[in-house]
Amino acid sequence: MDGVARVHLNYGAAKLHVWGQVSPDDVIRRAHQAGYHAVRVTAFGRPPRSSSALALRLPLTLFCGLFLLMAATADVVPWIDLRMQQLLLIASIVSGGVFPFRSAFFAIMRRSLDVKVLMSVATLGAVVIGEWLEGATVILLFSLGELLEARSLERARNSVSKLLSLIPDQCAVSRDGEERLLPTADVVVGDVCVVHPGQRIPVDGTIVEGESFVNESSITGEAVPVEKRPGDPLFAGALNGESVLTMQADRPASESTLVRLVGLVEEAQGKTAPLAPFVARFARIYTPVVTVMALGVAALPPLVLGEPFPPWIYRGLMLLVLSSPCALVIAAPVATLSALANAARTGVVIKGGEQLEALADVDTVLFEKTGTLTKGRLEVTEILPLDDSTPERILAVAGGVEWESKHPIARAIVAAAEAAEVDVDPIGGFEARPGLGVLAKRDGVVYRVGSLRYLMGERVELAKAPVLAHELEAEGKTVVGLAEGLRIVGLFALSDSLKEESVRAIRRLRQLGQIQYVAMLTGDNRRAASRLTERLALDEMRAELLPEGKVKAVETWRQEGRRVAMVGDGVKARPALAKAHVGVAMGVANSDASLDSADIEIMGDDLSRVPLLVVLARRTVRVIRQNVACSIGIKVLALILLLSGDLTLWMAIASDVGATLLVTYNGLRLLGRVRAPSTRGAG
Ligand code: ADP
Ligand code: MG
Repeated sequence: MDGVARVHLNYGAAKLHVWGQVSPDDVIRRAHQAGYHAVRVTAFGRPPRSSSALALRLPLTLFCGLFLLMAATADVVPWIDLRMQQLLLIASIVSGGVFPFRSAFFAIMRRSLDVKVLMSVATLGAVVIGEWLEGATVILLFSLGELLEARSLERARNSVSKLLSLIPDQCAVSRDGEERLLPTADVVVGDVCVVHPGQRIPVDGTIVEGESFVNESSITGEAVPVEKRPGDPLFAGALNGESVLTMQADRPASESTLVRLVGLVEEAQGKTAPLAPFVARFARIYTPVVTVMALGVAALPPLVLGEPFPPWIYRGLMLLVLSSPCALVIAAPVATLSALANAARTGVVIKGGEQLEALADVDTVLFEKTGTLTKGRLEVTEILPLDDSTPERILAVAGGVEWESKHPIARAIVAAAEAAEVDVDPIGGFEARPGLGVLAKRDGVVYRVGSLRYLMGERVELAKAPVLAHELEAEGKTVVGLAEGLRIVGLFALSDSLKEESVRAIRRLRQLGQIQYVAMLTGDNRRAASRLTERLALDEMRAELLPEGKVKAVETWRQEGRRVAMVGDGVKARPALAKAHVGVAMGVANSDASLDSADIEIMGDDLSRVPLLVVLARRTVRVIRQNVACSIGIKVLALILLLSGDLTLWMAIASDVGATLLVTYNGLRLLGRVRAPSTRGAG
């Protein structure tokens, strides 16, 4: 169209993006001409019911079938004579053909050859040689196939966009001391919303008042409601439990985690699996070649050898129908689409088919420790003064250094200070040394909190600190020191606990087979880490790594020829995730990391999702292979029948429509729930 600068068709989400100077109405009109039903959508809001697109087609297809059936009974029903039968067949072809003929017409105008053109030519060709009944059968089977295919694809698409309907249209907002019902889309950052029991959260925000259990399964996939208090985050779409919550909006509705999740999944669904380009190339060559062959078969023998036209035209038409690559073209996309939708429902964004295929291939899985295998909620268990300072003063100073840091250790120290009711005075000039510690400056003195390795590197005099630290680390604790200038003042011991599901998740991963190597990467000390290594029965552990060290470790494993998946959380983990064949980010809903840098993003913290994802990935690859084999197999079979002279036109159509539906339904199986093989034995 004139004025269109760029378009992007997202097959998976059934969305067309158009950039340029055109009116949306013109675009919609053009889509209608091409045989599609189009409506405008906005970034946020309920997806339109696209089933209305099919509303007219269903009755038309039914009429097509009904007329055909009546015509077919002409031999037994006395009042249907030859003319009557002819009329019935015309009615059948017309009602079944309106839509396909129309889009075929516009396709030809655009000089493109699509399946609707093929089918229309086949139908009209059959009519030309007097095979009315076959013509009507062609159009009936084709319409029926299209209808069923559209219906079932819609199921896959809706299961993602349906997530958006969990966000309420309206919510109670109190502005200027007055509570009013506003459209959710009009809520601005800072607005205070009231969520009553049993209602869904309208926007991402923070609790100001009230305590309640909130079911966040739509975002994190976690079925058990979470207890929430003032200060805790809330996600749009989550279901409030028993009591009233007052919350403050942190993001506008269009930027809610759930809305972004749906957007990302739809975008991912638009990208096809790596198998697809090959298939598309195949189809681009196969279809024209077979079409030309069909023309040759129909025209050459009669023209050159003087054979009669009708049987050769008939053979040409069969070949024409067989040139349709429909089933093959959707073999991979329909599987990926369903798998991505399935994952989305449990709060997992998979960036595309390619990533799924990579995950299916993985033989090495690396985990980060803090926040991934462990809960990442550290607690200060001991404070050891190393000079004459009191524990309170050490807490106050360390809290002041850590004030601006978001690291779990920093949080733990600040929380401990608050619990001990010491006043923390933030020290300025904060700087983080990722993987090592932090520093802050005041009045020319540099204060540092971090690992002893870090402090030693900064030439801090450690005295007997290492000896004390070793003992605590042997208990599995993390130890950090506080230094004032070059003097160490005290030590903190912190403990973290394993996530309940970690042991089982790793055991499951191994049970899946093919995964030969499971290891842990951490910046924490070796002694603490090695205790975990035993409990989790890991093959290897690499400790005291800086963020670059983690990236290097992934790289060396890759160079050994391993297919590496790396599972981590938080912003710092991202470079290492990016280095792996597949990077899996966890706890994304609660982290600052933007939603789009890892291959797979798990909104929640539940590690047992990882083995389930591997199962889903492998199943997807299997389904794609089955689909490709099935669609090529059926085509070959039909060609053999054609050569042996046993093929009829309706059989050719049936094989094409049948293969397409078979492939579609096979792909849709991936929408079903995924279970990992059950773990035998105690645990
Ligand atoms: P992990 O690999 O377990 O996520 P990190 O890379 O986050 O570990 O940190 C590694 C080590 O660096 C910590 O065990 C700690 O000794 C030190 N460290 C990092 N950040 C801080 C901080 N904000 N305060 C104190 N120590 C820190
Ligand atoms: Mg970390």
